[in-house]
Amino acid sequence: MSNLRRRRIRLRRKKPVSRNMREIIVATRNQKKLEEIREIMRGLKIKFLSLEDVSDAPYVNEDGKSFPENAAKKAVKIARFTKKLTLGEDSGLCIDALMGAPGIYSSRFSGQGKSDEKNNQKVLRLLKKVPLRKRSARYVCAVALADKNGLIGVVGGVCGGLIALKMKGTHGFGYDPLFLMPQYKKTFGQLGPLIKHKLSHRYKALKKIRPIVRKYFQSQNP
Ligand code: IMP
Repeated sequence: MSNLRRRRIRLRRKKPVSRNMREIIVATRNQKKLEEIREIMRGLKIKFLSLEDVSDAPYVNEDGKSFPENAAKKAVKIARFTKKLTLGEDSGLCIDALMGAPGIYSSRFSGQGKSDEKNNQKVLRLLKKVPLRKRSARYVCAVALADKNGLIGVVGGVCGGLIALKMKGTHGFGYDPLFLMPQYKKTFGQLGPLIKHKLSHRYKALKKIRPIVRKYFQSQNP
């Protein structure tokens, strides 16, 4: 067999997944959110799985009154079920001119048949008469960590901005085409992941959870 052929076969073989690879279940089915979490937490040598990888995962009713409460509910329920370290994330957009709405109802703001597009259109409709300088808003993110024994910790992150007059850009998800970073004069939808992941609510919360995760794994395997 030629060297070239041997090399091709070697390349085609899948890298075996180490049995000792550390794993965290992210209690979400939102693949965009999972992707962001994986990117922000890169370097920790942890495999992040989602509810798509957990068969028969129980439904978590997000009926908490706050982001931290919902994040903790997701983490604790899924950790109890999987017996694995679990990260629960709850996030949303709070618009000052709408008295903090949509807040914890961000994903379902447009009601039945909800979609990111419909949610954004509803925001634009409600803010139709509000000038840009009064369209201040915040993305809020709570991240909770739990294992089979219960809640380990909850942290949060906030990112301030403005709601743009129209949707711009295709990066990200949710309200990103409307979320304007004044210092860049661009929305997260235009700025893309490199900049978003240095400024976002999710980045700020995950930065605080990193040492807690590290400590957890060290205590499990000193
Ligand atoms: P959750 O899955 O219940 O936490 O819903 C989060 C919702 O908040 C998403 O569906 C989006 O509508 C909104 N949201 C949270 N974080 C972001 C973000 O980083 N970009 C855009 N929208 C976000």
